[in-house]
Amino acid sequence: MKKFTLPLLLLGVTAIAYAQQPVLRCSTTEFMHNHADANAPVRHAETQRRILQWLEQHPDAGNTRTTIYIPVIFHVVYNNTQGNVPSTRLIEQLDVLNEDFGGYNSDYANTPAVWQPISGNTDIQFCLAHVDPQGNWTNGYQYYQTSANLCNSSTIFSTAPGWNPNNYLNIWVAQCSSGILGFASPLGSPPTQDGVVIMHEYVGKTGAVAPYNLGRTGTHEVGHWLGLAHIWGNDGGACSGSDNVADTPNQADNTFNCRPPNTVLTDACSPAAPGIMWMNYMDYSDDACMYMFTQGQKALMLATINTVRPGLLTSTVCQVTGMRENDLSGQPQAFPSPTQGLLTVWMPDGQTEVKYVRIYNTTGALMEVIAAPSTSGNRFELDLTTYPAGLYLIAIETPETRFMLRAMRN
Ligand SMILES: [Zn+2]
Repeated sequence: MKKFTLPLLLLGVTAIAYAQQPVLRCSTTEFMHNHADANAPVRHAETQRRILQWLEQHPDAGNTRTTIYIPVIFHVVYNNTQGNVPSTRLIEQLDVLNEDFGGYNSDYANTPAVWQPISGNTDIQFCLAHVDPQGNWTNGYQYYQTSANLCNSSTIFSTAPGWNPNNYLNIWVAQCSSGILGFASPLGSPPTQDGVVIMHEYVGKTGAVAPYNLGRTGTHEVGHWLGLAHIWGNDGGACSGSDNVADTPNQADNTFNCRPPNTVLTDACSPAAPGIMWMNYMDYSDDACMYMFTQGQKALMLATINTVRPGLLTSTVCQVTGMRENDLSGQPQAFPSPTQGLLTVWMPDGQTEVKYVRIYNTTGALMEVIAAPSTSGNRFELDLTTYPAGLYLIAIETPETRFMLRAMRN
């Protein structure tokens, strides 16, 4: 629900109304007011003003259908094995972001029929960064071990300073069990602190702690990073706050827990059906009970990208063709090799349609056949996590030809 008083109201929000809840789903507001530097709320409000101005000048932004790819670098900062989350969970998190922002999450169909026409694909997708700020190869994630307290946000940022947010979305995965699931840095943050933080227990899916184990903390926080506010407008239960989005119903306060699809939930601000949009990613429902963004939210995110993160529109750090031009030479490439499980395969230009992938061990035994692997641009991913260590031969069949690759699993 759109009203125009939000920037002023936001400045005054300090209350924490979560005492009865076992967790604080998101501490973005608290971080801005209590932990970021003193000018953060002013910068945030000023940045938000520019975003809304852009949106007024581009009222059809939500109707554009050009996919934007945002390069992601994960910074895993940890104390011990509990926080040393495997890269497979980072890839799961990336997949969840792509599904949720692409509107092809398997639970999207639970979205009430009344809101299906105004929700779904935001045309924002995410890719692992493969070129670091120095121009070198990276697999898209970095690990930093420290003995420092990682519930202290400044420690997170000083241990692993963020990469240039004009080229990267920084996602810190921090070992902290304070009851906070994550937070996003305020708009206009210093570059080394610009991004989102997900606590280690809530990143990805496998081994994550229920009911926040479907990767939706990441979806929610990246929504903030792209300019979205909480759907209830952070007004402490009143109906006066706004999320600056016209197609989300007015809502009094956050919604916790989970309820069956199509449950109509009303409150003082939306007293009649269809009620409040408790299944929106920017509410506080359990992971299993949030599954949609609206077109209005999409437009606001596009406005944020165009206004304060325009470098992302032309960032090439997901691509390796420029860096490894001589190596590509018409042949597919697989990275990293050796791998601990996940393997990214880049196809050469003109050969991006893959019909089959067959993986053989060195005795010639067929390990797996994958029909039409889902590709993102010119790349697709293979998961050798369950394979024994050793050398594998990968046959890739396109409509025109067949390629052979080797990859080492260690
Ligand atoms: Zn939040």
